[in-house]
Amino acid sequence: GDMAAAAGDPSRLALLGLAYGAPCCPHGPTLLFHKTSQGKEEGRRFYACSACRDRKGCSFFQWEDEKVSEARLAAREEYNRNHQPPSTHTQNVERYRNFIQLPLPKRRFCQECQLLLLPAEWEEHSDHQFLSDISTAQLKRPSQLLFPLENKKIHAQYLFTDRSCQFLLDLITDLGFRRVLCVGTPRLHEVIQSKASQDDDFKVRSLLLDIDFRYSQFYAEDEFCHYNMFNHFFFGGEVAHKTCRKFLHEDSGEGVIMVTDPPFGGLVGALASSFKKLVEMWKKAEKEADTNQEMPMFWIFPYFFESRILEFFPSFNMMDYQVDYDNHALYKHGKTGRRQSPVRIFTNLTPSMIVLPAEEGYRFCSICQRYVSSDNQHCDICNSCTSKDGRRWKHCGLCKKCVKPTLFHCKNCNSCTLQNHVCEKTNSGCFVCGKAGHKRSACPSL
Ligand code: SAH
Ligand code: ZN
Ligand code: ZN
Ligand code: ZN
Ligand code: ZN
Repeated sequence: GDMAAAAGDPSRLALLGLAYGAPCCPHGPTLLFHKTSQGKEEGRRFYACSACRDRKGCSFFQWEDEKVSEARLAAREEYNRNHQPPSTHTQNVERYRNFIQLPLPKRRFCQECQLLLLPAEWEEHSDHQFLSDISTAQLKRPSQLLFPLENKKIHAQYLFTDRSCQFLLDLITDLGFRRVLCVGTPRLHEVIQSKASQDDDFKVRSLLLDIDFRYSQFYAEDEFCHYNMFNHFFFGGEVAHKTCRKFLHEDSGEGVIMVTDPPFGGLVGALASSFKKLVEMWKKAEKEADTNQEMPMFWIFPYFFESRILEFFPSFNMMDYQVDYDNHALYKHGKTGRRQSPVRIFTNLTPSMIVLPAEEGYRFCSICQRYVSSDNQHCDICNSCTSKDGRRWKHCGLCKKCVKPTLFHCKNCNSCTLQNHVCEKTNSGCFVCGKAGHKRSACPSL
């Protein structure tokens, strides 16, 4: 995103976060950033959209110390109003009710507008591509009906393969959870919803929080909230807030797990601060019982963000399981895809409880007390299974740690790097991993 782009510049961008009284864009309160240019100490602070890591997605920009005229404020408010969805969630629920009354041949879905159409609206969409005979089964799998919003700078919508989705669901049910707060996991949500509607013995429920408002066409107000996870903003205001709170507070907060799979474009700090607010929301249910208890969480994210996530959630552990995606060729599971997926599950649950599938080669390391991938060897010197990427790592005595199999120890750089690297003594570390000796483009963790 912007932050990564800034690494190539001589200037640097840092996230300061949600500031009191921050101006709003159509995506809720904006975030405060700090930009410093090389040679200049001070730098300057500005507000930008939390949800879009690209000016094309949301053009909001304001210097922190900028004077904004009344006229511009009024124009901004109007702009924000005009950039909300054309219909409310309640209206969409009503439309859905009418839609399912229709006989199959009258059930149309406009592919251009990504809308379920009622017969009175056909005319308006007459020159658009549409699907017809939308079955109940199709309505239960909206993520297959809607096209994924792949723009990396905004939604970065990458949908779980059946393998990964089923694995998560089985894991959640085996662990005994009864409610799943799905934050940016529409496919997991729909699998839970459709199973619950078909199988009376399946007691798991879920609430989807997502910025993709198209999903409001398929779910009631207690099944979906239009939510921005970079600033903890509920578009539906206090009512939506309450829906979420109520969901978390049932059974005195027992049996809840939060599962999130955010866009990978940086801003880990913003995500972490929203997730902490969701945890706070949940905690208020624990009637002064055990205030140190943590809400169980699965945060699905690439392994090279491990240190960033642990900064904010020190109790988390990274699991070896490779999460993969239907619409992402590079993020495929090792055995079937061209490359191994770098995406993992970070969790505050006890690692030994996260049982990984033996038929995919995962095995239990009794020393580490967790399941590891088949090529992850236990290193006696590090005293842990050290591979992060699924390949077998090797121990470097000079670095005093295990490193990727493709790296060699360079005496100049005094670290393990790629053999064909250019030795450079830079005092600013790599933007991605923070280590010296290479630039972002040559980062071994990518
Ligand atoms: N693998 C998941 C989808 C993850 S893709 C699954 O199959 O269920 C990332 C998800 O986060 C998308 O659904 C996207 O709409 C949502 N998202 C992106 N930006 C968001 C934001 N700012 N706030 C809330 N959700 C967001
Ligand atoms: Zn915005
Ligand atoms: Zn080692
Ligand atoms: Zn080394
Ligand atoms: Zn070197």
